[in-house]
Amino acid sequence: MTTRTNTRIVLVLLVLGLAGCQTPQKQETKLQIGEHLTTMENLARSLGLRIEERQESFVVLKNSANTVLIFTHPDGRFFVNGKPIGAVGEVAHSGGVVYVPDLLVTQIRPHLRSTLPTLPRPTPPKPRALVVVDAGHGGRDPGAIGAGGVYEKNINLQVAQRVAGLLAQRGVNVVMTRRDDRLPELEDRADLANQRNADLFVSIHSDSAPNRQVRGFTLYVAKAASANAMRAAGCLNRALTATGSEGHGIREADYVVLVQTNCPAVLIELGYLSNTQDTLRLKDPAWQNRLAQAIVEGILAYVQ
Ligand SMILES: [Zn+2]
Repeated sequence: MTTRTNTRIVLVLLVLGLAGCQTPQKQETKLQIGEHLTTMENLARSLGLRIEERQESFVVLKNSANTVLIFTHPDGRFFVNGKPIGAVGEVAHSGGVVYVPDLLVTQIRPHLRSTLPTLPRPTPPKPRALVVVDAGHGGRDPGAIGAGGVYEKNINLQVAQRVAGLLAQRGVNVVMTRRDDRLPELEDRADLANQRNADLFVSIHSDSAPNRQVRGFTLYVAKAASANAMRAAGCLNRALTATGSEGHGIREADYVVLVQTNCPAVLIELGYLSNTQDTLRLKDPAWQNRLAQAIVEGILAYVQ
């Protein structure tokens, strides 16, 4: 048996019971309208609300996002979230149960707010950064030459290729100034970054010094380096320090690739080819990988 049938029966009984009743107030409950009346409980359930408060002349229905106030006296009105919506219409009272028109469901529903959690708007993904990776020297310019004829240009290219591969894997757009043994002009390397509107220019070199005991990496920025160039150098310095290699900090020098690039530019000296141990390490693919990973971590820390 449905609740509605119950309602109808109750109201029919009420009609019969009240037939001779003299109380004018009871007659207000135009009991023949049982077909379209519903209990406050059913109304609340249909709307996903609970009965929060029930008084003689009003009922408050609630959920986490809404408050519905229904006056149950004659000519009562109903309010959704403080806003008057309309007249309740016929209200019947019987045995402590309040009946209201079931039409209220369709009248209230459009005014209810969603109880679904409002998720923060997803932030649009950052456009992918573009990093220019520059392998120093090349072609007829070998750069520094280490013990056993190790050419700086080759070490630079091997590490630069590893850096470029790892950056691409991490979703960074990469442009290399050279992918093989050729010698682009220094100005052309900087121009490439400028034409592509790069976010960062990283030049990879290997060092040499008269003192053959000197080891470790060094970072260079231009003398008039921007704050962003300094920040990028700081990120790279931290990441390279984590490899355990000795660091000589961030130095300033006006190399062509540092001053002619519009974007932040950092030059990395990976180690000293004038030092035997550094040379052995720089030739070692495992150490090249280690350095490349550190450089990529530094770049990611800067661009992300
Ligand atoms: Zn060099």
